[in-house]
Amino acid sequence: MFFIRRTNSEVPIIKEFYVLGTIIQLKVYGRKAEKAIQEAITRLYEIDDKMSAFKEYSEVSKINKNAGKLHSRVSNDTYFVIKKAVQYSKLSDGAFDPTIRPIVNLWGVNTDNARVPDRDEINNALKLVNYEQVALDDTNSTIKLNYENQCIDVGGIAKGYAADEVKSIFKKNKIRSAIIDLGGNIFAYGSKQDGAKWNIGIQDPFSFCGEYSGIVSVKDKSIVTSGNYERYFMKDGKRFHHIIDPRTGYPSENGVVSATIVSDYSIDGDALSTCAYVMGIDNGVELIESLDGVDAIFITEDKKIHITSGIKDNFKLCNTEFMYGNHVN
Ligand code: ADP
Ligand code: MG
Repeated sequence: MFFIRRTNSEVPIIKEFYVLGTIIQLKVYGRKAEKAIQEAITRLYEIDDKMSAFKEYSEVSKINKNAGKLHSRVSNDTYFVIKKAVQYSKLSDGAFDPTIRPIVNLWGVNTDNARVPDRDEINNALKLVNYEQVALDDTNSTIKLNYENQCIDVGGIAKGYAADEVKSIFKKNKIRSAIIDLGGNIFAYGSKQDGAKWNIGIQDPFSFCGEYSGIVSVKDKSIVTSGNYERYFMKDGKRFHHIIDPRTGYPSENGVVSATIVSDYSIDGDALSTCAYVMGIDNGVELIESLDGVDAIFITEDKKIHITSGIKDNFKLCNTEFMYGNHVN
Protein backbone atom coordinates (compact mmCIF):
# COMPACT_ATOMS: atom_id res chain seq x y z
CA MET A 1 0.00 0.00 0.00
CA PHE A 2 1.18 3.54 -0.72
CA PHE A 3 0.93 6.37 1.79
CA ILE A 4 1.53 10.01 1.07
CA ARG A 5 4.08 11.45 3.42
CA ARG A 6 2.42 14.15 5.49
CA THR A 7 4.00 17.54 5.79
CA ASN A 8 1.61 19.00 8.33
CA SER A 9 1.08 16.55 11.17
CA GLU A 10 -0.67 19.17 13.33
CA VAL A 11 -3.86 18.66 11.39
CA PRO A 12 -5.50 15.38 12.31
CA ILE A 13 -6.69 12.82 9.82
CA ILE A 14 -10.31 11.96 10.49
CA LYS A 15 -11.96 8.80 9.17
CA GLU A 16 -15.56 7.83 9.73
CA PHE A 17 -16.99 4.43 8.83
CA TYR A 18 -19.50 1.81 9.96
CA VAL A 19 -18.47 -1.49 11.55
CA LEU A 20 -19.28 -3.42 14.76
CA GLY A 21 -22.86 -2.19 14.42
CA THR A 22 -21.91 1.41 15.04
CA ILE A 23 -20.38 4.55 13.57
CA ILE A 24 -16.67 4.70 14.20
CA GLN A 25 -14.62 7.86 14.09
CA LEU A 26 -10.84 7.86 14.26
CA LYS A 27 -9.13 11.22 14.64
CA VAL A 28 -5.39 10.80 14.51
CA TYR A 29 -2.44 13.20 14.63
CA GLY A 30 1.08 12.52 13.47
CA ARG A 31 3.06 11.59 10.40
CA LYS A 32 1.98 7.97 10.40
CA ALA A 33 -1.69 8.70 10.98
CA GLU A 34 -2.85 7.47 7.58
CA LYS A 35 -1.05 4.15 7.86
CA ALA A 36 -2.18 3.62 11.46
CA ILE A 37 -5.80 4.30 10.47
CA GLN A 38 -5.66 1.81 7.59
CA GLU A 39 -4.32 -0.88 9.91
CA ALA A 40 -6.97 -0.07 12.50
CA ILE A 41 -9.77 -0.35 9.92
CA THR A 42 -8.52 -3.76 8.79
CA ARG A 43 -8.36 -4.93 12.41
CA LEU A 44 -11.86 -3.66 13.22
CA TYR A 45 -13.36 -5.55 10.27
CA GLU A 46 -11.48 -8.65 11.38
CA ILE A 47 -12.92 -8.38 14.91
CA ASP A 48 -16.42 -7.85 13.46
CA ASP A 49 -16.01 -10.94 11.25
CA LYS A 50 -15.14 -13.02 14.30
CA MET A 51 -17.64 -11.68 16.81
CA SER A 52 -20.72 -10.48 14.95
CA ALA A 53 -23.87 -12.27 16.02
CA PHE A 54 -25.35 -11.44 12.61
CA LYS A 55 -22.69 -12.93 10.35
CA GLU A 56 -23.34 -16.64 9.77
CA TYR A 57 -19.64 -17.40 9.49
CA SER A 58 -18.50 -15.59 12.65
CA GLU A 59 -16.98 -17.51 15.53
CA VAL A 60 -19.74 -16.30 17.83
CA SER A 61 -22.33 -17.73 15.39
CA LYS A 62 -20.41 -21.02 15.35
CA ILE A 63 -20.53 -21.22 19.16
CA ASN A 64 -24.26 -20.47 19.05
CA LYS A 65 -24.97 -23.08 16.36
CA ASN A 66 -23.08 -25.68 18.36
CA ALA A 67 -24.89 -24.87 21.62
CA GLY A 68 -25.66 -28.01 23.61
CA LYS A 69 -23.66 -30.09 21.15
CA LEU A 70 -20.03 -29.31 20.41
CA HIS A 71 -17.02 -27.43 21.67
CA SER A 72 -16.02 -24.78 19.13
CA ARG A 73 -12.44 -23.84 18.59
CA VAL A 74 -12.05 -20.06 18.33
CA SER A 75 -9.32 -17.50 17.78
CA ASN A 76 -7.45 -15.90 20.68
CA ASP A 77 -9.48 -12.71 20.13
CA THR A 78 -12.86 -14.34 20.60
CA TYR A 79 -11.65 -16.55 23.43
CA PHE A 80 -10.23 -13.57 25.31
CA VAL A 81 -13.41 -11.50 24.93
CA ILE A 82 -15.76 -14.29 26.02
CA LYS A 83 -13.53 -15.24 28.93
CA LYS A 84 -13.48 -11.61 30.10
CA ALA A 85 -17.26 -11.43 29.67
CA VAL A 86 -17.68 -14.44 31.96
CA GLN A 87 -15.27 -12.92 34.50
CA TYR A 88 -17.35 -9.74 34.60
CA SER A 89 -20.50 -11.82 34.96
CA LYS A 90 -19.03 -13.39 38.09
CA LEU A 91 -17.79 -10.06 39.41
CA SER A 92 -21.21 -8.46 38.96
CA ASP A 93 -23.07 -11.50 40.23
CA GLY A 94 -24.83 -11.89 36.90
CA ALA A 95 -25.78 -8.24 36.23
CA PHE A 96 -23.60 -8.66 33.16
CA ASP A 97 -24.26 -11.90 31.29
CA PRO A 98 -23.07 -12.70 27.76
CA THR A 99 -25.72 -15.43 27.43
CA ILE A 100 -28.43 -12.73 27.44
CA ARG A 101 -29.00 -13.02 23.67
CA PRO A 102 -32.26 -15.09 23.75
CA ILE A 103 -33.80 -12.19 25.70
CA VAL A 104 -32.21 -9.53 23.49
CA ASN A 105 -33.69 -11.34 20.46
CA LEU A 106 -37.17 -11.33 21.98
CA TRP A 107 -37.19 -7.57 22.51
CA GLY A 108 -35.60 -6.84 19.12
CA VAL A 109 -34.55 -3.30 20.12
CA ASN A 110 -33.10 -1.54 17.08
CA THR A 111 -34.61 -4.04 14.65
CA ASP A 112 -37.82 -3.96 12.60
CA ASN A 113 -39.28 -6.50 15.03
CA ALA A 114 -39.05 -4.46 18.23
CA ARG A 115 -41.90 -5.41 20.56
CA VAL A 116 -42.80 -6.03 24.20
CA PRO A 117 -42.71 -9.83 24.68
CA ASP A 118 -45.17 -11.50 27.04
CA ARG A 119 -44.14 -12.73 30.47
CA ASP A 120 -44.15 -16.44 29.47
CA GLU A 121 -41.83 -15.85 26.55
CA ILE A 122 -39.48 -13.95 28.81
CA ASN A 123 -39.54 -16.63 31.50
CA ASN A 124 -38.82 -19.34 28.95
CA ALA A 125 -35.93 -17.43 27.40
CA LEU A 126 -34.58 -16.60 30.87
CA LYS A 127 -33.99 -20.32 31.51
CA LEU A 128 -31.24 -20.16 28.90
CA VAL A 129 -29.51 -17.14 30.43
CA ASN A 130 -26.71 -18.40 32.63
CA TYR A 131 -23.06 -17.47 32.25
CA GLU A 132 -22.11 -20.47 34.40
CA GLN A 133 -23.07 -22.70 31.49
CA VAL A 134 -20.36 -21.29 29.24
CA ALA A 135 -17.67 -23.99 29.18
CA LEU A 136 -14.26 -22.48 28.53
CA ASP A 137 -11.24 -24.66 27.83
CA ASP A 138 -8.05 -22.60 28.07
CA THR A 139 -5.78 -25.37 26.81
CA ASN A 140 -7.62 -25.96 23.57
CA SER A 141 -9.16 -22.50 23.14
CA THR A 142 -12.61 -24.00 22.82
CA ILE A 143 -15.96 -22.72 24.02
CA LYS A 144 -19.22 -24.57 24.44
CA LEU A 145 -22.63 -23.44 25.57
CA ASN A 146 -23.89 -26.33 27.66
CA TYR A 147 -27.59 -26.07 26.72
CA GLU A 148 -29.19 -26.20 23.32
CA ASN A 149 -30.61 -22.83 22.18
CA GLN A 150 -28.28 -20.91 24.49
CA CYS A 151 -26.88 -17.98 22.61
CA ILE A 152 -23.95 -15.69 23.28
CA ASP A 153 -23.90 -11.90 22.82
CA VAL A 154 -20.68 -9.91 23.07
CA GLY A 155 -22.45 -6.62 22.25
CA GLY A 156 -21.77 -5.35 25.75
CA ILE A 157 -18.01 -5.87 25.62
CA ALA A 158 -16.62 -6.31 22.08
CA LYS A 159 -16.40 -2.61 21.24
CA GLY A 160 -14.19 -2.14 24.28
CA TYR A 161 -11.85 -4.86 23.10
CA ALA A 162 -11.85 -3.33 19.63
CA ALA A 163 -10.89 0.09 21.05
CA ASP A 164 -7.98 -1.50 22.93
CA GLU A 165 -6.81 -3.17 19.74
CA VAL A 166 -6.92 0.14 17.85
CA LYS A 167 -4.93 1.66 20.68
CA SER A 168 -2.23 -1.05 20.32
CA ILE A 169 -1.99 -0.38 16.60
CA PHE A 170 -1.59 3.36 17.22
CA LYS A 171 1.09 2.65 19.80
CA LYS A 172 2.98 0.39 17.40
CA ASN A 173 2.88 3.23 14.86
CA LYS A 174 4.21 5.67 17.46
CA ILE A 175 1.11 7.84 17.34
CA ARG A 176 1.05 10.20 20.31
CA SER A 177 -2.32 11.83 19.97
CA ALA A 178 -5.68 10.45 18.85
CA ILE A 179 -9.36 10.06 19.65
CA ILE A 180 -10.79 6.61 19.04
CA ASP A 181 -14.58 6.83 19.03
CA LEU A 182 -16.50 3.58 18.60
CA GLY A 183 -20.08 4.85 18.73
CA GLY A 184 -19.60 6.63 22.03
CA ASN A 185 -17.02 4.18 23.40
CA ILE A 186 -14.18 6.68 23.50
CA PHE A 187 -10.49 6.07 23.94
CA ALA A 188 -8.70 9.37 24.56
CA TYR A 189 -5.32 8.19 23.35
CA GLY A 190 -2.14 9.89 24.57
CA SER A 191 -2.63 13.60 25.09
CA LYS A 192 -3.62 16.59 23.00
CA GLN A 193 -0.98 17.80 20.55
CA ASP A 194 0.31 20.33 23.09
CA GLY A 195 0.60 17.68 25.81
CA ALA A 196 -2.56 18.79 27.66
CA LYS A 197 -5.32 16.46 28.83
CA TRP A 198 -8.20 15.60 26.53
CA ASN A 199 -11.58 16.99 27.53
CA ILE A 200 -14.31 14.47 26.87
CA GLY A 201 -17.96 15.44 27.16
CA ILE A 202 -20.36 13.14 28.98
CA GLN A 203 -23.65 13.26 27.13
CA ASP A 204 -26.72 14.72 28.78
CA PRO A 205 -29.02 11.67 28.62
CA PHE A 206 -32.10 13.93 28.61
CA SER A 207 -31.03 16.10 25.70
CA PHE A 208 -31.96 15.31 22.12
CA CYS A 209 -29.19 17.34 20.59
CA GLY A 210 -26.11 15.84 22.14
CA GLU A 211 -25.45 18.38 24.88
CA TYR A 212 -23.08 17.55 27.70
CA SER A 213 -23.80 17.10 31.37
CA GLY A 214 -20.15 17.22 32.38
CA ILE A 215 -16.60 16.95 31.13
CA VAL A 216 -13.83 14.53 32.09
CA SER A 217 -10.22 15.57 31.57
CA VAL A 218 -7.85 12.67 31.03
CA LYS A 219 -4.77 11.38 29.26
CA ASP A 220 -4.69 7.92 27.75
CA LYS A 221 -7.96 6.64 29.19
CA SER A 222 -11.01 4.81 27.99
CA ILE A 223 -14.36 6.52 28.60
CA VAL A 224 -17.34 4.27 27.95
CA THR A 225 -20.99 5.06 28.57
CA SER A 226 -23.97 2.74 28.74
CA GLY A 227 -27.20 4.67 28.48
CA ASN A 228 -30.89 4.25 27.76
CA TYR A 229 -31.05 7.12 25.30
CA GLU A 230 -29.60 5.73 22.10
CA ARG A 231 -30.98 2.30 21.47
CA TYR A 232 -34.62 1.99 22.49
CA PHE A 233 -38.20 1.94 21.24
CA MET A 234 -41.35 3.55 22.64
CA LYS A 235 -44.60 1.68 23.36
CA ASP A 236 -47.61 3.21 25.10
CA GLY A 237 -45.52 6.16 26.22
CA LYS A 238 -42.91 3.94 27.85
CA ARG A 239 -39.30 3.62 26.82
CA PHE A 240 -37.86 0.13 26.30
CA HIS A 241 -34.09 0.22 25.92
CA HIS A 242 -31.41 -2.34 25.11
CA ILE A 243 -29.69 -3.02 28.43
CA ILE A 244 -31.41 -6.00 29.99
CA ASP A 245 -31.49 -6.92 33.64
CA PRO A 246 -30.76 -10.67 33.47
CA ARG A 247 -32.67 -11.22 36.71
CA THR A 248 -35.95 -10.04 35.21
CA GLY A 249 -35.53 -10.25 31.44
CA TYR A 250 -36.78 -6.64 31.16
CA PRO A 251 -34.81 -3.49 30.35
CA SER A 252 -32.97 -2.50 33.51
CA GLU A 253 -34.98 0.04 35.55
CA ASN A 254 -33.35 1.25 38.73
CA GLY A 255 -33.14 5.01 38.31
CA VAL A 256 -29.82 4.99 36.46
CA VAL A 257 -30.05 6.53 32.97
CA SER A 258 -26.37 6.46 32.16
CA ALA A 259 -23.24 4.90 33.59
CA THR A 260 -19.82 6.02 32.37
CA ILE A 261 -16.61 4.19 33.20
CA VAL A 262 -13.15 5.75 33.04
CA SER A 263 -10.42 3.09 32.90
CA ASP A 264 -7.10 2.13 31.29
CA TYR A 265 -8.57 -0.66 29.22
CA SER A 266 -11.72 -0.20 27.24
CA ILE A 267 -12.70 -3.87 27.49
CA ASP A 268 -13.01 -3.33 31.25
CA GLY A 269 -14.83 -0.03 30.75
CA ASP A 270 -17.31 -1.52 28.30
CA ALA A 271 -18.21 -4.51 30.47
CA LEU A 272 -18.26 -2.42 33.64
CA SER A 273 -20.49 0.28 32.17
CA THR A 274 -23.10 -2.37 31.45
CA CYS A 275 -22.54 -3.95 34.92
CA ALA A 276 -22.84 -0.58 36.67
CA TYR A 277 -25.95 0.36 34.70
CA VAL A 278 -27.73 -2.84 35.72
CA MET A 279 -26.44 -2.90 39.32
CA GLY A 280 -27.70 0.61 40.06
CA ILE A 281 -26.21 3.38 42.15
CA ASP A 282 -25.45 1.72 45.48
CA ASN A 283 -24.06 -1.59 44.30
CA GLY A 284 -22.53 -0.01 41.20
CA VAL A 285 -20.59 2.62 43.14
CA GLU A 286 -19.45 -0.03 45.61
CA LEU A 287 -18.18 -2.28 42.82
CA ILE A 288 -16.31 0.49 41.03
CA GLU A 289 -14.77 1.83 44.25
CA SER A 290 -13.44 -1.68 44.93
CA LEU A 291 -11.50 -1.71 41.66
CA ASP A 292 -8.12 0.02 41.32
CA GLY A 293 -7.73 2.57 38.56
CA VAL A 294 -11.40 2.49 37.54
CA ASP A 295 -13.89 5.32 38.06
CA ALA A 296 -17.52 5.93 37.26
CA ILE A 297 -19.97 8.72 36.60
CA PHE A 298 -23.61 7.78 37.08
CA ILE A 299 -26.55 9.92 36.02
CA THR A 300 -29.93 9.16 37.55
CA GLU A 301 -33.51 9.90 36.49
CA ASP A 302 -33.74 12.74 39.00
CA LYS A 303 -30.85 14.51 37.22
CA LYS A 304 -28.28 13.77 39.88
CA ILE A 305 -24.67 12.98 39.07
CA HIS A 306 -22.81 10.50 41.23
CA ILE A 307 -19.07 10.16 40.76
CA THR A 308 -16.52 7.84 42.38
CA SER A 309 -13.66 9.18 44.48
CA GLY A 310 -10.81 8.84 41.94
CA ILE A 311 -12.39 11.11 39.31
CA LYS A 312 -13.43 14.12 41.38
CA ASP A 313 -10.46 16.30 40.37
CA ASN A 314 -10.90 15.46 36.72
CA PHE A 315 -14.64 15.86 36.33
CA LYS A 316 -16.48 19.11 35.83
CA LEU A 317 -20.23 19.49 35.91
CA CYS A 318 -21.06 21.85 33.06
CA ASN A 319 -24.82 21.84 32.95
CA THR A 320 -26.97 23.65 35.50
CA GLU A 321 -29.79 21.13 35.03
CA PHE A 322 -27.75 18.63 37.04
CA MET A 323 -26.74 18.43 40.68
CA TYR A 324 -24.34 16.19 42.52
CA GLY A 325 -25.98 13.26 44.29
CA ASN A 326 -25.17 11.63 47.62
CA HIS A 327 -22.39 9.53 46.35
CA VAL A 328 -19.91 12.31 45.75
CA ASN A 329 -17.00 11.64 48.05
P1 ADP B 1 -23.86 -0.09 23.67
O1 ADP B 1 -23.67 -1.35 22.89
O2 ADP B 1 -25.04 0.70 23.26
O3 ADP B 1 -22.62 0.73 23.76
P2 ADP B 1 -23.63 -1.59 26.14
O4 ADP B 1 -22.16 -1.69 26.14
O5 ADP B 1 -24.25 -1.32 27.47
O6 ADP B 1 -24.19 -0.50 25.17
O7 ADP B 1 -24.13 -2.96 25.60
C1 ADP B 1 -25.46 -3.23 25.36
C2 ADP B 1 -25.55 -4.47 24.50
O8 ADP B 1 -25.06 -5.59 25.25
C3 ADP B 1 -26.95 -4.82 24.12
O9 ADP B 1 -27.26 -4.31 22.84
C4 ADP B 1 -26.95 -6.33 24.14
O10 ADP B 1 -26.46 -6.82 22.92
C5 ADP B 1 -25.98 -6.65 25.22
N1 ADP B 1 -26.57 -6.71 26.57
C6 ADP B 1 -27.77 -6.22 27.02
N2 ADP B 1 -27.93 -6.45 28.33
C7 ADP B 1 -26.80 -7.08 28.75
C8 ADP B 1 -26.36 -7.59 30.00
N3 ADP B 1 -27.09 -7.48 31.10
N4 ADP B 1 -25.14 -8.21 30.04
C9 ADP B 1 -24.39 -8.32 28.94
N5 ADP B 1 -24.74 -7.87 27.74
C10 ADP B 1 -25.93 -7.26 27.64
MG1 MG C 1 -20.87 -2.28 27.66
